[in-house]
Amino acid sequence: MTSTQQTGVPFERIRGSPGFNVNNLECSICHELLWKPVACRTCETPFCSTCINQWLINHPNQCPNQCQIFAERKCPPFIVKLLSQLQIACFYQSTGCNEIISYEGLDKHEIECNFQSQQCPGCQLQIIKEDFDNHISNCTSIELTCQDCKIVYKRGDADRKHTENICLKEQIRQLRDEYKENKREMHELTLQLHEMRLLNPLIKKIRITFDDLDGTLDKLSCISAEYRGLKWTGISSMHKSYAIQKYPKSGYATSFTSDGSSTIVFFKDDASIGVKNSNEKFTFVSVTACAAWADNLQVTITGCRNSIEINKHTAILLFGKPQLILLYWKDIDKIIFKSYSSSAHPDSGGSNCTHVVLSQLTIGQEKNFPLFRQRNQIVSLDRKEFIEIKLIEIAALADKRDTSKHQQ
Ligand SMILES: [Zn+2]
Ligand SMILES: [Zn+2]
Ligand SMILES: [Zn+2]
Ligand SMILES: [Zn+2]
Ligand SMILES: [Zn+2]
Repeated sequence: MTSTQQTGVPFERIRGSPGFNVNNLECSICHELLWKPVACRTCETPFCSTCINQWLINHPNQCPNQCQIFAERKCPPFIVKLLSQLQIACFYQSTGCNEIISYEGLDKHEIECNFQSQQCPGCQLQIIKEDFDNHISNCTSIELTCQDCKIVYKRGDADRKHTENICLKEQIRQLRDEYKENKREMHELTLQLHEMRLLNPLIKKIRITFDDLDGTLDKLSCISAEYRGLKWTGISSMHKSYAIQKYPKSGYATSFTSDGSSTIVFFKDDASIGVKNSNEKFTFVSVTACAAWADNLQVTITGCRNSIEINKHTAILLFGKPQLILLYWKDIDKIIFKSYSSSAHPDSGGSNCTHVVLSQLTIGQEKNFPLFRQRNQIVSLDRKEFIEIKLIEIAALADKRDTSKHQQ
């Protein structure tokens, strides 16, 4: 704590009769009794050091008395001597201090004075230093945080807001939430493991994390009709910095995982992803999704082949927590998403929104059965055909080697 004395001391606080005219000790800037004075080297006029420093900020190198240039010197000794003869009432006399202190001892006293006050962070009242600790440990408006249940309550509300019963119930609720969250994470990991087993080693998987979308940081962009060799309809992309700045309370903001991409894509109501040429097929392995505004948002995902519905799955998406949906649908050429209106997540600011966030998509192509080009047409071969062709190729190659050997 520092003394409240910044600029001059009001003349009314001088006590006793000094026996000289105190008006000669006035600072010509603040018009009060000089406080920690310094003087102009040319005209020797003293000023409170705070006053002259303030003045010099606005009038660099100028003396308030219009001298050519202001250079600081010590206050003339006779002024210091006069000041030292003064007796001053403590600044905190209004809050009860009756001390009269010598000019020289004033600073030290006011720093330590027990009648200076501090604001109570609870009731906001000004409490004098002497009573402060006692007040803080009893004030009913002080907020306390329970170490066990983390509930924050005012001391005076303890018997309503934080009884033993409430505390225990809250701890149980938090444990339940934690358990649910752990279970969800376990489930997620199991799915990922399952996916790895499925994909290995038969399939060449293509994981799309949208990191390579050349979307701008400060606006939403539609995914162009062709991206990663597929046709995207009704899907837009959003960068992490945009999501956090624009929609900080939404599920968009929390849909970015620490190890994931900094771009997500999203759609409202309907969207689809399909092949460019009708004779191409792919395996739809998985999608990672969550809801942007709603709790428990229902989404149906349909897999089609030649415009015929082959697979269908309904998922319930959580608010802002991406979950892996493992499907592993083979030989399809289009995925259709549809979301249904649901109740908004509390405090998200959204209202019955159907926006869905996709943070990752995995599609697969059979590794050993690549898309063969035959007569400029792409066809997918099944395993038997593939092995047959491979065997014929190997045999032909062996033949060739044999013939070349014989020729040598
Ligand atoms: Zn002054
Ligand atoms: Zn001067
Ligand atoms: Zn005092
Ligand atoms: Zn208080
Ligand atoms: Zn508690």
